[in-house]
Amino acid sequence: MPTFQTVRGMRDLLPGEAEALNNVIARTRETARLYGYREVITPVVESYELLSAKSGEEIRQRMFTFKDLGDRMVALRPEFTASIARLATTALRNEPKPLRVFSVGSVYRYDEPQRGRYREFWQANFELIGSSTPEADVEILLLTKKVMNSIGLRNFSFKVGHVGVIRGILSQEGIDEKIQNLVLQRMDKKEYSEAFKLIEQDKCRKVLRGLLELKGDTPFETAEKIQQYVSGYEMAQAAASNLIAILHLATVSGCPIKTVETAFARGLEYYTGVIFEVNVPELDVALGGGGRYDKLIEVFGGEPTPAVGVAHGLDRIVLALQAQKISPLTQRGKTTMVIPVKPELRAEALKLAQMLRESGISVEFEVMGRKMAKALEDADKRKVDYAVIVGEQELKEGMVVVRDLAKREQTTVEISKLTEKLRA
Ligand code: AMP
Repeated sequence: MPTFQTVRGMRDLLPGEAEALNNVIARTRETARLYGYREVITPVVESYELLSAKSGEEIRQRMFTFKDLGDRMVALRPEFTASIARLATTALRNEPKPLRVFSVGSVYRYDEPQRGRYREFWQANFELIGSSTPEADVEILLLTKKVMNSIGLRNFSFKVGHVGVIRGILSQEGIDEKIQNLVLQRMDKKEYSEAFKLIEQDKCRKVLRGLLELKGDTPFETAEKIQQYVSGYEMAQAAASNLIAILHLATVSGCPIKTVETAFARGLEYYTGVIFEVNVPELDVALGGGGRYDKLIEVFGGEPTPAVGVAHGLDRIVLALQAQKISPLTQRGKTTMVIPVKPELRAEALKLAQMLRESGISVEFEVMGRKMAKALEDADKRKVDYAVIVGEQELKEGMVVVRDLAKREQTTVEISKLTEKLRA
């Protein structure tokens, strides 16, 4: 038999790695609780039609699609928003607004594997549905900041844009939505000449070219320049004012916004308003991204409903933690191994192990039938903290031997005081 490997782009998360990911997940869940987001669990497999409705060409082409045995075209979810929009138009349709929903799980994209880019990866996803106010946008920025802070990340910053600016210009110039999507996609990839080829009007091309120059590390100044620059375009101007309002609220609440740029678009087609990414200097890929999507719920057959959301890339957050040498995300608590001196004492030793676990102590039981010296050697190798040695004589006196494996010291302890001793 050949030895098997994981499928390209898929990874095993080994002990330590899985713990780190679970720790990050725990922080996102805690942040969801703090901000009033209720968790939902949606299927990994959804209809292709739902997932492709508004995800954008980029992601459409990278979906893991297949026909199920019932001849239905289905796909592995490449993100959560489509599933949440489905819920918002069905089971959660009559819930009072705003609706705050949290999800966490694996998503799938046929991306080219490299550091920080996998084909199966984890996202924590927050959606705030039913509000179009800047404070709703800022809530999404703030909870993202909270997740990064609670994990201990340093020097993270936000890049913010607004797709309404470019869409506003293109719409007023009579360019239809399909072409708009293509232009935004190309601009996001910095393929500007390709983007401009899609636009016939000279004037429009010139306006967009000028807009590209307007980006920088002084968020307010940049946003104000953008607002002045698009002064002939009503929708674009409204978008720029909206961006300024959001920047204002975000800055007041301590959100580290570093750059403002209108030419970045993000891969997903459904965005209609503010968009953002969060980055750390150590990684050249974003740790999370999101934005406003006011039309999506309508596309799925719901009432017109504004919404804003974010997805945090949890694998990349773990990478960022490693890059910043932040521990002890993977630290495990103290561990104990219970070892009977001879097989006849197994039952008593097992009972003792159960008692310790009932009081919350992590216990491994010696299951290999090893002699004491070997068992201790093995416990030592695996960095177990304490060995509890169950011997006949001690048991008769209501005692066991506790060995501190690191210090190589042992004492006899009353069973009634054992929990206390192991906790110390
Ligand atoms: P998106 O759904 O494209 O807005 O992505 C949200 C976040 O998911 C990104 O900011 C990344 O942190 C993460 N992400 C996207 N694609 C990948 C990938 N192929 N591998 C790992 N993380 C990813």
